[in-house]
Amino acid sequence: MAATGLRMGVVGGSVAGCATAVAGVRAGADVTVYERSAGALQDRGLGVVVPPSLHERLVGAGYLDAAMPTAPVATRVWLTRAAGGRSAREFARQPSPVTPCNWGLLWQALRTAASGAHHHRGRPVTSVGRAPAGRAVVRTAEGEETYDVVVGADGHASLTRQALAPGLRPSPAGYTVWRGTLPLSALTDHRRPLELLREAWVTIGFPGGHGIFYLIPRGGGAGPDDRLLAYAVYATPPGPPPGEVAHVRDVAERYFPEEWADIVARGEHTAMTCHPVTDLHAPLAADPPFLLAGDAAGVTRPHTASGAVKALQDALCLEEALRTCASPAEALRSYARERTPEGARLVELGRRLGRAQVEQTPDWAALDQEAVDAWCRATLAGATSYLYARVAPEAQAQADPVGD
Ligand SMILES: Cc1cc2nc3c(=O)[nH]c(=O)nc-3n(C[C@H](O)[C@H](O)[C@H](O)COP(=O)(O)OP(=O)(O)OC[C@H]3O[C@@H](n4cnc5c(N)ncnc54)[C@H](O)[C@@H]3O)c2cc1C
Repeated sequence: MAATGLRMGVVGGSVAGCATAVAGVRAGADVTVYERSAGALQDRGLGVVVPPSLHERLVGAGYLDAAMPTAPVATRVWLTRAAGGRSAREFARQPSPVTPCNWGLLWQALRTAASGAHHHRGRPVTSVGRAPAGRAVVRTAEGEETYDVVVGADGHASLTRQALAPGLRPSPAGYTVWRGTLPLSALTDHRRPLELLREAWVTIGFPGGHGIFYLIPRGGGAGPDDRLLAYAVYATPPGPPPGEVAHVRDVAERYFPEEWADIVARGEHTAMTCHPVTDLHAPLAADPPFLLAGDAAGVTRPHTASGAVKALQDALCLEEALRTCASPAEALRSYARERTPEGARLVELGRRLGRAQVEQTPDWAALDQEAVDAWCRATLAGATSYLYARVAPEAQAQADPVGD
């Protein structure tokens, strides 16, 4: 079935909303997007990492412009503070090809690709409901519209999800992530970290957590090779999460190699946010005429680097289903069969990674290359993740990697 003539409403105009709008338009549907925020969304996020193969596929399929800047690297480096000092000790290096993106540029690219849809900005959806003949109604302050399919792309606190899974609540992990960015101009006296970050993404292990550092395109009209440093530090705050923004500086000062602690201290004065880590998974990703995409369908702990990835894969799956299934209802059931277990799998993987890398951290000082590879394999326990694509080759042969 090409979805010609299908009326599709999309609640939310962020990454999942724009990507599913592209999917619907490409399959031939008449798509309308409702976004609560009145302004453009490009200044919202920081860094987003996607698998290179997914990036290529999205460019090939017309979801992303090949000219959108990215900052690909192929290696992951593991560091910790050297025993008895404040210098950095590299204890492992793994092949780990990733394509870091700037959240704002990614959103802009998707929004441009979704220009074939009707977009209503500053139009919050107040409720959705079932309508006669298997259709759905979308209500706003301006009135109501009826659609054949309604996509809930309205984020982790999704109102659309209430139609499928009323009362579902996020599960707190009990720890916090501090995210920040820094312009590279602030780091000219940090030659070694910068050299490393130009070839790798970096994980710094410390007792009770870890930090991730990587470069992303700067965006905001800067040249395609201009970079920002993006980082995320996971730790348990002394009080209930999320805790203080400043707490991460104390953690870095106490445990990080000196130059990396200084980066975190500077980040506090540029752009930093902290929020509690949670996860959530809708028991059904679609139930005609409703479909959930992106964070509305499920939120995984960020260790899987799959928030945006999942939203983009959801869109590709929706397009395929709309193109190939005999009816919209069958397309949504096909989507649910594929995406519901994937969401559950990612939540479980995020929990395992969180346990290993935050809740029950190893003695980082005792790890070497072999021990890290073995520890990663044990943590994955046969699951696949593009971040660890070359760590568990035997497992990769048995299952599709996340993002492919
Ligand atoms: C402010 C912010 C910053 C982020 N930063 C990062 C980051 O740096 N790195 C990263 O990997 N991920 C980040 N994420 C998460 C990441 O964007 C998501 O995991 C992923 O991209 C999936 O996005 P989404 O579209 O499902 O959800 P979201 O990006 O949360 O978008 C949901 C959209 O729905 C809209 N909406 C909600 N309710 C309604 C309603 N009733 N009516 C109409 N519209 C509604 C919201 O305004 C929002 O635009 C961020 C998300 C947000 C909101």
